[in-house]
Amino acid sequence: MKKATKTDILIIGGGPAGATAATLLAQKGFQVQVVEKAKFPRAHVGESLIPFCYGLLNELGVLEQVQAMAFPKPGVRFTNESGERYSTYCFANVIEGPEKISFHVDRANFDKILLDNAKEKGAQVLEEAMAKDIRFEKNRVSLDVELSNKDLQTFNAQFIIDASGQNTFLAKKMRTRKKYEHMDRTAFYTHWHIEDPMEELKEGIQQLISFENKDKGWIWVVPIKKQRLSVGVVLNNASIRAWKKENPTTEDWMQGVYLDTLHKSKQCMEILEHASIEHKLATTGNYSYYSEVKYGERFCMIGDAGTFIDPIFSTGVFLGMKSAFIVADALEKQLNKFDNQALATVYEDINGAYVLIKKLIDNFYSKSFNFYGSDGEFQNNDSAIRLLHFMLSGDFFEKQATYNEFFEKLKNPVFFKRYQKMAFKDHHESVFTRRTCN
Ligand SMILES: Cc1cc2nc3c(=O)[nH]c(=O)nc-3n(C[C@H](O)[C@H](O)[C@H](O)COP(=O)(O)OP(=O)(O)OC[C@H]3O[C@@H](n4cnc5c(N)ncnc54)[C@H](O)[C@@H]3O)c2cc1C
Repeated sequence: MKKATKTDILIIGGGPAGATAATLLAQKGFQVQVVEKAKFPRAHVGESLIPFCYGLLNELGVLEQVQAMAFPKPGVRFTNESGERYSTYCFANVIEGPEKISFHVDRANFDKILLDNAKEKGAQVLEEAMAKDIRFEKNRVSLDVELSNKDLQTFNAQFIIDASGQNTFLAKKMRTRKKYEHMDRTAFYTHWHIEDPMEELKEGIQQLISFENKDKGWIWVVPIKKQRLSVGVVLNNASIRAWKKENPTTEDWMQGVYLDTLHKSKQCMEILEHASIEHKLATTGNYSYYSEVKYGERFCMIGDAGTFIDPIFSTGVFLGMKSAFIVADALEKQLNKFDNQALATVYEDINGAYVLIKKLIDNFYSKSFNFYGSDGEFQNNDSAIRLLHFMLSGDFFEKQATYNEFFEKLKNPVFFKRYQKMAFKDHHESVFTRRTCN
């Protein structure tokens, strides 16, 4: 074991949350050490970003680099499995300026841009270095890290940020990781090559196809390049078990359940008519969880290391990065002893954002809340449509009280009608009729 290395702040994980925190804290003058188990670029799921990422990328100084490599995302289209009923949410309906066009990204390249930026801004980044053991001592935290040659290296710091993603390094060590039991789902995904995608995909509109009984599953189609689609299937684990029972002889059950689900959707088959699979199928299971404790005197968790919920609204990258921004500000105050409550305050906001998204997700899966319209109540509800546009764009931090009130109203038909009277002038009818945002 080599001599321990001292730093101010240690960060486990160099994904979007860890890289963002590293950049900002280094800019604030802290000595920052990131340990990342992979060698970047490394593949990652989660390719569709929401518009509220725009400002964060700009502040980090990487907006132009991301714009140069990304595919534009002007909106999101929800359809039922046949494609006959749909609604198209164009961010331009509520957002002005260039941020109305969001991004689809190849995560390997996107994450590398963010991590390289952290290095440029002064953070030390050690790749192929896996956090193994942690000790909280009186005045410091100690982390043992395994290097690529299997040597162990110890780092001592004032504070540690866990940004280890679904690995949930600290929550596992502290045994604070809890599952959202009712979100017991698994995702299967891969990339497809397509010669000539349909108009909506050429324009960059993300497609979310859901089965009438949403517990049975939904499909995402994300155009990450002109001729490359990311296509994923999310299924309730009970449905997967049922499928396996019905198909006991299928050799590759994952590929089987994936292709079978795609084939059940006429809309999806139309999209993929001339497309072919490019990569081996990947899968993520049991991914909705939270840590009961997310911060303490010498640690905090950001991004997926602290909470992850169903990816239907493409919120993960934004939440990780936004949390990194506000945690970095709070840490500056707390470590410089200006405000001992700074972390406690920002975690109220962070937890509030996850609560809000969970409400949106629960509403997506409940049959009464019909995102793809036609017989949905929202066709007549102007302000609900407007609020939905904002939430699909990522407005989870600033107006939590308004949106929580909105979800409360939803439960009560009398109060709900008051929303219908609020005006939304121009665009809402088109949500249920237009196929593109152009
Ligand atoms: C099926 C699915 C679809 C998704 N779709 C979207 C989407 O469309 N849009 C979106 O915004 N989000 C999406 N997400 C969520 C998104 O992928 C995550 O929220 C996002 O990557 C979180 O960033 P992060 O930095 O917290 O974690 P990560 O990006 O996972 O980064 C964590 C890093 O920590 C490293 N690490 C882990 N353990 C250790 C260790 N012990 N030592 C050192 N390093 C370690 C890992 O190698 C990794 O690089 C999706 C997720 C899933 C499962």
